[in-house]
Amino acid sequence: MLNLPDDFKPLDLLAIAAHPDDVEQTCGGTLIRMAEMGYRTGILDMTAGEMGTRGTPALRIEESREAGRRMLAAWRGNMRFPDARLENVLAARMTLVGELRQLRPRVVILPYWEARHPDHYNAGLLAYESCFLAGLAKLDEGASVPHRPFKVIYSSLYANVTPSFVVDITAQFERRMAALFAYESQYGDQDQGSGLFPAREEIRERLAAIARFYGNLIGVKYGEPFAVKETLRVDDVVSMGVRSF
Ligand SMILES: [Zn+2]
Repeated sequence: MLNLPDDFKPLDLLAIAAHPDDVEQTCGGTLIRMAEMGYRTGILDMTAGEMGTRGTPALRIEESREAGRRMLAAWRGNMRFPDARLENVLAARMTLVGELRQLRPRVVILPYWEARHPDHYNAGLLAYESCFLAGLAKLDEGASVPHRPFKVIYSSLYANVTPSFVVDITAQFERRMAALFAYESQYGDQDQGSGLFPAREEIRERLAAIARFYGNLIGVKYGEPFAVKETLRVDDVVSMGVRSF
């Protein structure tokens, strides 16, 4: 479906999200930072956001590719599952299993398991179950080589819950904003006279305030929150970051 080349190199980190521009608002700074560290990163959007009032699905996918480039992602794809009606059904899981076995990510970022928008939690559950199924050797035998990601981390920014950890994205924040504004059909100035320029400033201010809030939790300017279901391991308590006083 995604038509990856045969010599596609496995991803170190893959962010899976419901809609184009979710990643830019929730975990894009972390993706940028990991790419800067030399990791091979990718983004897989479940839908093309065709329920949005502005632009077309084709245009949004094109814009998402540009946004991906701005976030230094090695690869970005779109499943074209139906927007606003995303469902965790067998056919969708099996399609996703095939893609995961090609992308072969070591770590995946999923949307947090509770959300207001059903697409967000459905995307998280669909992707979680697909990650598990992708590792079953006897599932769809012969069609693809089994692969199960080592770790699943959840992007919790939309959920307003206490995160398990926060990534410092102070140095990546501006690049992440530039990636978001690649969606010109959503955030561009095509609506002359409707005060869209202030709207863009407003979006920037809102995202900065949220990033600032999470950054503050770890003593930096901007941060992105994540939750994990497993306990985090610490090997050296003497060098732990984030001061207590
Ligand atoms: Zn969304």
